[in-house]
Amino acid sequence: MSLFKGPMRNHLNGHKELTEHKEAVVYNPKTVYIPLFAGFDPNPKILVNVGDEVKVGTKLAVFEARFVVPVFSSVSGKVVSIEKRMHQNLKQADYIVIESDGKFTEEKNPTIDWEKASVEELVEFMKNAGIIGCGGAGFPSYVKYQGAKGIERLIINAVECEPFITSDYKAIESDLDTMLVGIRAMKKMCGAPVAEICIKKSHPELIAHVNEKIKGLDGITCREVPDVYPMGWERTLIYEVTGQRYDRLPAEVHVVINNATTALKFGTAMLTGMPIVNRMVTVSGDGVKNPVNVIVPIGTLASEIVNGPAGGYTSDKIIMSFGGPMMGGTVPNDDIAIDRQNNALTVQIDKGIDEIACLRCGRCSDYCPSGLQPVRINNVMKMNDMDRLGKLQVTKCIECGMCTYVCPSKIAVTENVRRAKRAYMAFGKK
Ligand code: SF4
Ligand code: SF4
Repeated sequence: MSLFKGPMRNHLNGHKELTEHKEAVVYNPKTVYIPLFAGFDPNPKILVNVGDEVKVGTKLAVFEARFVVPVFSSVSGKVVSIEKRMHQNLKQADYIVIESDGKFTEEKNPTIDWEKASVEELVEFMKNAGIIGCGGAGFPSYVKYQGAKGIERLIINAVECEPFITSDYKAIESDLDTMLVGIRAMKKMCGAPVAEICIKKSHPELIAHVNEKIKGLDGITCREVPDVYPMGWERTLIYEVTGQRYDRLPAEVHVVINNATTALKFGTAMLTGMPIVNRMVTVSGDGVKNPVNVIVPIGTLASEIVNGPAGGYTSDKIIMSFGGPMMGGTVPNDDIAIDRQNNALTVQIDKGIDEIACLRCGRCSDYCPSGLQPVRINNVMKMNDMDRLGKLQVTKCIECGMCTYVCPSKIAVTENVRRAKRAYMAFGKK
C-alpha cells in the first residue's frame, strides 16, 4: 500500500450526454441465448429439454452451490438448443437457446406483500426470484440480507460513475415507484432505519425527480455525491457516505449496499412475480452510430443490439467492452449475450496506443483508489517475485482502469497489474 496517498479519485469526462436525455427503446430478438454462468458452480441442474415450450419467467436452471440463484427464461417460445458458448468473462458456459414466439406469454410466479411478509420470507423470495446485483457485479443479493444485524444504513447505489453508462438513470426514470417498493422492502430486510439513494450531483434533474417521489416516505433520502471516479465503487461510496473504511464487508461499518436497478428488479418481482428477464443496457461510445439505452431480454446478442437499435459500427476497428470503458471486460467478438448484470456495452474505435517509457511520475499510485503502487507491482511481476507481489497487496486491485487512464506514457498499467494479480492468485496465494 502506498504510504503517501494521492486523491485516489478523479473527475472523468462522462460522455453521458450521448444517451442520458434520449428515450430508451425496446428491442426483442428472435432468438435468445441465456447464459447459465453462475460463478462458483459450473454444474447447473437444467430443468428444460430441447423442444420444451417455455414462458417468460419459466425457471430454466438451478444450482447446487451456495450463493447462486436460479435462471429464468426471458421470452416465451421453444427451447431449440442447449449448448456451450463463450461467456463475456471469456470462459465457456452452458447456454439455453430459445426461439421466441413473439407473444411474451408470462409464467405465473408467486408475488409477495413486503409489508406483511417476515424478513426471512422476503430473503427467501429474493433468492428464489434470482435477484442479483445488476450494476455489474452479479452477486446474489439475498446474501447481503440473510441474518443482517446492526445495520444502520442501506445505500442505494445510483452513482453510475463510469463514463458513457446511463442505464441506472434511465431505469430510475422509467419506474421509480417500483424501485421504491424494492428499497422499502430492502430497508425492512436489513433493519436499517435509513435508506440513502446516492446520485452524482451532476444530475440535478434526476435528483429533483427522486426527491419529489420520496416526499413523505419515512427514512428514505436522496444524497448528492461528487462527480468523480470511482465514486460508484462500494468502498469509495461507503467512505463518502459514512466516513468509514472497512476490511472485508460493508456490514463491518453497519451498511448494506445495493444497486438501483437491483432495487427496481426486486420491486418488480415482488409486485408481479417476474424475476429478472430483461434489462436496460446503455450502448454507447464513438464506435456506434446511434448511442442509446435499450431494454432487451436477457440473452440478446451484443451484435444484434449494435446492428439494430445502436445503428451499427462506425469503424471496422473497434474495442467492445461489456460494461464501461474503465472496468468493463473487453471481448474478442460481438457474438456474446447480455446477462442479468450487464448494464452497458461500450464500443470505442481502436486508435492504437503510442506507449512510451515510464516517467516515474507516480500518478498511477496517486490516483489508485485501492492505495496500490501499480508501477512497482509491474516491476516486481517482471522479476516473478510472488512474495513481493503479496507484500504489495496485488489482490486489492479492483481493476478500475484508473492507472491506465492517468498514465501520461500511455502504458497499459491496469492490464499489467491485472496480469500480476492473476499470476499471484494462480500461484496459490490469496
Ligand atoms: S486498476 Fe488496480 S492498480 Fe490500477 S488504479 Fe485501479 S485498483 Fe489501482
Ligand atoms: S503513471 Fe505511467 S508514467 Fe507515471 S509512474 Fe505510473 S506507469 Fe509510470
